[in-house]
Amino acid sequence: MSLFAAVEMAPRDPILGLNEQFNADTNPKKVNLGVGVYYDENGKLPLLRCVAEAERQMLEAPKARGYLPIDGIAAYDLAVQGLVFGADSEVVKGKRVATVQALGGTGGLKIGADFLKRLNPSARVLISDPSWENHRALFTNAGFQVGTYAYYDAENRGIKAEAMLADLQEAKAGTVVVLHACCHNPTGYDLTPAQWTQVVEVVKARGLVPFLDMAYQGFGEGIAEDGAVIQQFLAAGLDFFVSTSFSKSFSLYGERVGALSVVCASSEEAGRVLSQLKIVIRTNYSNPPTHGAQVVATVLSTPALRSLWEEELAGMRTRIRAMREALVTELKAAGVEQDLSFVTRQKGMFSYSGLNATQMQRLRGEFGIYGVDSGRICVAALNPGNLKAVAAAMAAVIK
Ligand code: PMP
Repeated sequence: MSLFAAVEMAPRDPILGLNEQFNADTNPKKVNLGVGVYYDENGKLPLLRCVAEAERQMLEAPKARGYLPIDGIAAYDLAVQGLVFGADSEVVKGKRVATVQALGGTGGLKIGADFLKRLNPSARVLISDPSWENHRALFTNAGFQVGTYAYYDAENRGIKAEAMLADLQEAKAGTVVVLHACCHNPTGYDLTPAQWTQVVEVVKARGLVPFLDMAYQGFGEGIAEDGAVIQQFLAAGLDFFVSTSFSKSFSLYGERVGALSVVCASSEEAGRVLSQLKIVIRTNYSNPPTHGAQVVATVLSTPALRSLWEEELAGMRTRIRAMREALVTELKAAGVEQDLSFVTRQKGMFSYSGLNATQMQRLRGEFGIYGVDSGRICVAALNPGNLKAVAAAMAAVIK
């Protein structure tokens, strides 16, 4: 008998499966709103000018590619700390943060999960209901029992903040709570600063372990605004985890550039934590790759490139907002009477459109418009060329 005779076929990733279905669709008017990727107004994946310029500079002075340190490029880790916590923040200056370069935001989450499992093997993990698909899978595969805290309020198109706080209040000390720092995936609904204050209070009072997933900094309100939640956790004097992704904010999806930062009580403690994070990395993939992190470090630490990046990021953010407004306007024009203005209150790349699975399947089958069955659509894949057709199709299935 073959060694693999008993291996079962694993289920397809639901969103990547949707992509395969999209690619096989022969409808010339098909639109892919299932992806978690920002496309520009021409429906193209952008190569940011700041990235192209950093790469040009890097090519002018080509470097040999030795192994990086286990925790990555030092200048990159510092740049991440500056962006996430503020270069002049007390935690950064006091070297209380252990930061490691990671393989995208996913890599940052996984390093954190593996470290947490060693630290507290019996801890439970709570994710939002619903959450990014991979949160549950990733923490489950790291050996944790994963539960949920209340989040999406389908009836009122928002967040069940009271129920969320009550769930956190009930969690045992040491429970790891995964929180979306901004631009909640998949719903698009973020907590207000006042609601964050309440979350921070409960987390502190109950002795929970906050793990902030920051995959979209700059896509919501702005770099500082989206990062403001970090300042709330710092001000409360908590120890916490932050995973960072530059996949979207630099349009560097395939380079796998991210990080994990762990805020500790002292620099001495951060040193010990860093040594453990390095073991996790060393025993998984030894050390990270060079190119993407060098690009990001160059952009973030070169003033002219940094302002260009901020401008380009603002451009992406503004375009998404304009598409939200335009979608609501077009739906109204297409005869939808329901109030869909909630779409403009949502933040980031995604919108929980409120459409049910049957309506989403009709969008695919009858109109070649691909979104997720949960009703999630990627607003960042809308553009002036496909907007009217998408609105007309949505209107047809809503009515
Ligand atoms: N967290 C969330 C909430 C995400 O939406 C994503 C990307 N879809 C990630 C993490 C992972 O980002 P990366 O592609 O950088 O691994």
